[in-house]
Amino acid sequence: MKQTEAHSTVLIVEDEPHIRMFLRTTLLDNGYQTLEALTARHGLALVAERHPQLILLDLGLPDLDGIEVTRRLREWSVVPIIVVSARGQEQDKVDALDAGADDYLTKPFGVKELLARVRVALRHAERAAVEPAEPSFEAGRLHIDFVSRRVCVDGQEVHLTPNEYKLLTTLARNAGKVLTHRQLLKAVWGLSYTNENHYLRVYMGQLRHKLEVDPARPEYLLTESGVGYRLKSD
Ligand code: CA
Repeated sequence: MKQTEAHSTVLIVEDEPHIRMFLRTTLLDNGYQTLEALTARHGLALVAERHPQLILLDLGLPDLDGIEVTRRLREWSVVPIIVVSARGQEQDKVDALDAGADDYLTKPFGVKELLARVRVALRHAERAAVEPAEPSFEAGRLHIDFVSRRVCVDGQEVHLTPNEYKLLTTLARNAGKVLTHRQLLKAVWGLSYTNENHYLRVYMGQLRHKLEVDPARPEYLLTESGVGYRLKSD
């Protein structure tokens, strides 16, 4: 773990004591510092006062819901937000992501999953703040050269159509993070296509066919059921 990540302060906004304790214990054990809020209003105040590097935000809070908290935060803050939701809250997750949340965790989740999501979100935020865009992307057998626009699998160049390439690179630029159907449609086809989910199904199918060993059991282009897609990162 990088030093900057280890010293990061994570704000936990969660009204359920057991989950709050699990989050706190796991994060403290792994070198993070924590702040806690039991309500949305207290959480918003803590972001302004203490400037945490990451927020774990429960969607079901006693005063405001997490989607509204995300909307309000995004008016003035780019701090990464991971929403914590219950199973079956797919539409709420999508709304939170479209409102500007970075990722989500579905209860119940384990230590490994929590720490992986936290690391990805912090790394993305850090990169966006200080590093220039990477000229290439690599995950296992997949290699993308953004400069020459070449995509290779196991060293073999794969030919993609312009929209396939755009879809793949949008996912690669956000590797490890979920992107909603709406976010992907907007990035590749534009704002007026954000309801055309079948475009995504077709193009994702084509990409998997070209890039995956077994398109029916994808290794890289992962489906987040009811929400969107995620490109696996190393
Ligand atoms: Ca709750």
